[in-house]
Amino acid sequence: MDIGIELMAQLRDSVREKQNFHRYEHTLGVAYTAACMAFVHGEDSLKAELAGVLHDCAKCYKNEELIRLCAEEGVALTPEELASPAVIHAKYGRRMAEKEYGIDDPDILIAIAYHTTGRPDISRLEKIIFIADFIEPLRDQAENLPEARKLAFEDLDLCVYNILESTIRYLERKNSPIVPDTLRAYEWYRDRRLCK
Ligand code: FE
Ligand code: FE
Repeated sequence: MDIGIELMAQLRDSVREKQNFHRYEHTLGVAYTAACMAFVHGEDSLKAELAGVLHDCAKCYKNEELIRLCAEEGVALTPEELASPAVIHAKYGRRMAEKEYGIDDPDILIAIAYHTTGRPDISRLEKIIFIADFIEPLRDQAENLPEARKLAFEDLDLCVYNILESTIRYLERKNSPIVPDTLRAYEWYRDRRLCK
């Protein structure tokens, strides 16, 4: 698909209408961070920016609404995803990006679908959106932010691994379930790192 500035501006406007101030500022932060990372890592910066603009498009719905919409529209959810509803906006976001915003680029759709959980051996664009969501300028909670922000422009795989590790540690501390995609992604990047 051809991504021009008109399409980008239109998408930003439609997303802004559905997001509150903070969510929209986060969205812009992810889009700009992803575009800058794309420059450094040789990815298509417009695709990265567009994926950033749409990554949280389904956050306009509450978890219960998302579960209902997924059931109505045949978006399959695993029992683990139902137990961790925070990840469902990514899956339904992919559907919305396709159906509501007319995105047909599979790389962008997959990057939206896995921006929360990650998965093993993700594409460069997926890594960029996964990382940009974690490091964008408004984020201020995670302990490893300074390191992740540096690694984001130096070593995508190591950065993804560090984020997965800290996410798993955080979920374990909270006694929250960890979806299999995240665990598998963590193990994949850990094993790959040890082999280097
Ligand atoms: Fe998200
Ligand atoms: Fe986000």
